[in-house]
Amino acid sequence: MQKIQNFINGEYLDPIKGQYIDNVEPGTGKVFAQIPNSTEEDLENAVEAAKVAFPVWSNMSVDKRSKILHKLADLIEENLDDLALMESRDNGKPLWLAKAVDIPRASTNFRFYASAIINFSSEAQVSEGFMVNYTRLAPIGVVGCISPWNLPLYLFSWKIAPALAMGNCVIAKPSELTPMTAFLLGKLTKEAGMPDGVLNILHGEGKGIGQAIVEHEATNAISFTGGTATGKIVGVTASQQFKKVSLELGGKNPNIIFADCDLEEAVKTSMKSSFTNQGEICLCGSRILIEESIYDEFKERFLGECSKLVVGDPMDPKSNLGALVSEAHLNKVDSYVQLAKEEGGVVLYGGERVHKEGFYYQPTVIEGLDENCRTNQEEIFGPVVTLSKFKSEDEAINVANSTRYGLSCTIWTSNLKRAHRVSHAVQSGIIWVNCWLVRDLRTPFGGMKDSGIGREGGNAALKFFSEPQNVCIKL
Ligand code: NDP
Repeated sequence: MQKIQNFINGEYLDPIKGQYIDNVEPGTGKVFAQIPNSTEEDLENAVEAAKVAFPVWSNMSVDKRSKILHKLADLIEENLDDLALMESRDNGKPLWLAKAVDIPRASTNFRFYASAIINFSSEAQVSEGFMVNYTRLAPIGVVGCISPWNLPLYLFSWKIAPALAMGNCVIAKPSELTPMTAFLLGKLTKEAGMPDGVLNILHGEGKGIGQAIVEHEATNAISFTGGTATGKIVGVTASQQFKKVSLELGGKNPNIIFADCDLEEAVKTSMKSSFTNQGEICLCGSRILIEESIYDEFKERFLGECSKLVVGDPMDPKSNLGALVSEAHLNKVDSYVQLAKEEGGVVLYGGERVHKEGFYYQPTVIEGLDENCRTNQEEIFGPVVTLSKFKSEDEAINVANSTRYGLSCTIWTSNLKRAHRVSHAVQSGIIWVNCWLVRDLRTPFGGMKDSGIGREGGNAALKFFSEPQNVCIKL
């Protein structure tokens, strides 16, 4: 069985205390690797390495840093098959999806920030004859990046790419459930020519090594993606030490279907926004709100499409959905389906675990629930969507805004004015009109309300990972 190691100061190292955690393959339900359960001793080594590397990396010319990150992007592309296989075995997602989306997008993250840093510039304000002010944007130093299990390498790279591009040294922790692609990334950074100590990858439990990274006095900024409950702990811990903190958290995203939409397109894309990656994408639309006059037609078409979905072996190209990430998560998803029934919901499709081995769950569609019930308020993060009717635009907006979350929203309409009006009224950091999951990395990314603070993406992320300093010269 494979035993993976931490990546510290450019070397693969066993955890100092020799403790390991089993890593279970969701597709089979069996242990397939062991990962370090890192402790503060490992963190001290990583911090020391990062501190030594910081002057080297931050003083390297932007051009050279950019070339190293471009090379890393190349290497991810060259290793696409190996990385995708690991991502799929580790997470349970279909291999075709890891190949088509996760790994290419991870490479795109590095390529994007390799280019962005070349074009990044700070501002100057000139008061003619009186003074000149300019803002110096310097790297922060050592930063901590913590990522979740749902899009393992993609979200890991989304955190570390801007931090590295800006000249920071990073201590990063992937989820203990999906550590394998981050593990493989270590050697690629070395091959790309990244100096030792610039990127350090520690594996282990969130409450242990994750919390220790956030608490360590040497990490000057924390970029975190994960659940809202964990984000609260991370936010409180980091802000007690006045650290910069960016939190990309959970969602309960509405998918609003107006009667004047292109119904065929709305059904097709809603299938994707409901069930891609087993519904384990923070941006999946889990509450489908449908205008009353087309409710029955939408429902019929949507359920018809559900019946075509195959839930099965992640390695099988015919599988539309693979396995959920863990048995605990599968039980959580199922408990919400049971709760929905208690709350008066009717399961129109799915609602059952499938296959004897592995953590497979049917795509599940529920109707008849009140907007305020727990099923419609809490993040389930699985292949479960609810359908409900609305009579007016105002009602749709009110229901859309009725949760504590505000991550993303999808609006289906062919009325241009309504598209803008509803977009502006919905409290959500990301709005998609007649599309879903289309991303331009130059745009700020993140949620409102309990879905997070700070906006990553584009120059916002480079700014986050820098310390602005104003220099004023009197003329
Ligand atoms: P968690 O919040 O459980 O974990 C996220 C990461 O934080 C993991 O690496 C975890 O480690 C670590 N962690 C756990 N506790 C602590 C702690 N006290 N201090 C520091 N780190 C800690 O989220 P999940 O991994 O379950 O991911 C799913 C969640 O992520 C969903 O809510 C989803 O909506 C959200 N998400 C948000 C996105 C966004 O962009 N807004 C994108 C993707 C997901 P370990 O796994 O080892 O416990």
